[in-house]
Amino acid sequence: MKSTIALIYDFDGTLTPGSMQEYTILPEIGVKPNSFWKEVNDEVKKTGAESVMTYMRLTLKKAAEKDIPVTAARFRSQAGKIRYFKGVPAFFKAINRYSAKTNGRLSALKHYIISGGLKEILVGTSIAKNFNNIFACEYYYDEYGKAVFPKVVVNSTMKTQYIFRINKGKEDPSESINEHMDENKRPVPFKNMLYIGDGMTDVPSMAVIKKNGGRAIAVYKPKDTRGYRTCKELLKAGRVDFIAEADYREGSQLVKYIKLIIDTMSAEIKYSEELAAHKAKNSSR
Ligand SMILES: [Mg+2]
Repeated sequence: MKSTIALIYDFDGTLTPGSMQEYTILPEIGVKPNSFWKEVNDEVKKTGAESVMTYMRLTLKKAAEKDIPVTAARFRSQAGKIRYFKGVPAFFKAINRYSAKTNGRLSALKHYIISGGLKEILVGTSIAKNFNNIFACEYYYDEYGKAVFPKVVVNSTMKTQYIFRINKGKEDPSESINEHMDENKRPVPFKNMLYIGDGMTDVPSMAVIKKNGGRAIAVYKPKDTRGYRTCKELLKAGRVDFIAEADYREGSQLVKYIKLIIDTMSAEIKYSEELAAHKAKNSSR
């Protein structure tokens, strides 16, 4: 049986230069992104509110003020406006092909998004088809299809829950992940996980994966000195293995690191196979 290697991506700032809301719902309801995020941050500071819940609530409040109903269809239809970093749309197919060609006997790739953004937007994107699963925030919709309340909240620490779900093969949120499962029974071992993120909100995910033997890469927007500084801090603190410009085109430094990590994981898989076969062959008395 082939082993699974999971590539797990943050979305905003990792696959896209901006946040998904600033391409979609915010212009739709006529709100300037900078003032919106400032209002979110101010409220978080002032009231001690949870920041993801705050942006979800303020989105609904701003839309209501303009009399614009927020529906799942509206989110999905706006997803086409999202701009990606260079190479993103073609990257997934290309890396799958590379992996199949070089390590096909040993491993197969799966791709996941774990995002603090909105799932309805993500499932409407052109790149959604590349992912095995997308974990993100969701609204509860009333009988008229209007978003009225947060149903699923994914903040930076809650992201780690989904890493365990991938690890244990319990991706359906109705399944409990708290029962013990032997490490060797888990369909995606942590050591076969690569996490790609862009900042401090990815630290809990990077920490969980790195501490359990997996790998992480931090990316920054080309020419963004602040982003580069954040990435250097993550590298210094041992949160990530590599840092690179968010350029997903063939031959970029980032893609080279991703390939190196996939090759290393596949070599490790081969090593374990050899070891097990060797032990089995020489175990008879
Ligand atoms: Mg991000």
